[in-house]
Amino acid sequence: GIRIQAVTKRFGATQVLRGVSLDVAAGEFVALVGPSGCGKSTLMRIVAGIEQPDSGRIMIGAGDVTHRRPGERDVAMVFQSYALYPHLTVAENIRVPLALRRLNAWQRLPLLGGLLRGTADAQYLMDQDVRRAAEALGLRALLDRRPAQLSGGQRQRVALARAIVRRPKAFLMDEPLSNLDASLRVQTRREIVEIHRQAGAATLYVTHDQSEALTMADRVAVMQGGELLQVATPEAIYADPQDLRVATFIGSPR
Ligand code: ATP
Ligand code: MG
Repeated sequence: GIRIQAVTKRFGATQVLRGVSLDVAAGEFVALVGPSGCGKSTLMRIVAGIEQPDSGRIMIGAGDVTHRRPGERDVAMVFQSYALYPHLTVAENIRVPLALRRLNAWQRLPLLGGLLRGTADAQYLMDQDVRRAAEALGLRALLDRRPAQLSGGQRQRVALARAIVRRPKAFLMDEPLSNLDASLRVQTRREIVEIHRQAGAATLYVTHDQSEALTMADRVAVMQGGELLQVATPEAIYADPQDLRVATFIGSPR
């Protein structure tokens, strides 16, 4: 699972996180919601290791990863602004994390260079895993296309496939469906929950969409002003909000 312990973070004069603690168990799906600017993405970046906390700790699985680099944490991230390699096909894009994992540090650089130049020196990589991920996200027919030949929603799915292909202990998703149209969003929601279940991973999922949070998550964490106000099941959050700010944000009938 993911264990976030008393994490604080300040940017200049702004205290963005004021001691956030949250546990996401293995197999659990937690939605993180809250008004714009409350610190959700900052917290996700800290868990991913892209940003360092001022104080507090991050554990993933059994280990304290607070001082480990992103590549040394067993997490996969999907963010709103996903970056695909334009020169690579869909299949090659999904393969990248596998390619990187299989090689030691000194081998990685030239291979990534090769991938970026569009050469096919990663043939030996696990096509099976790539096909399974592509299948799960309905990308099977698109494996030989390049990102420029895909719709925004299809690109988002490639980013999701690239995240799941590594089978990480933890998924971090920061509004991964925000570029999709309404019907595709609903469909992809189900796929994400299914992928999460099959992986048995701990998933932390940021969304602006209340119905997404309430339908997908085992628990919902409501954040405001850099603090968690309440962490509870969707039913409890909706039916029994702990304070007015939660009720107002969730739109529950109190
Ligand atoms: P949204 O829902 O709009 O994505 P959020 O909850 O993800 O918002 P964050 O991106 O975590 O919010 O930002 C929290 C606060 O920290 C904001 O006031 C933001 O301006 C500030 N902030 C974030 N990153 C930085 C940075 N690198 N330098 C300075 N301030 C930052
Ligand atoms: Mg954000």
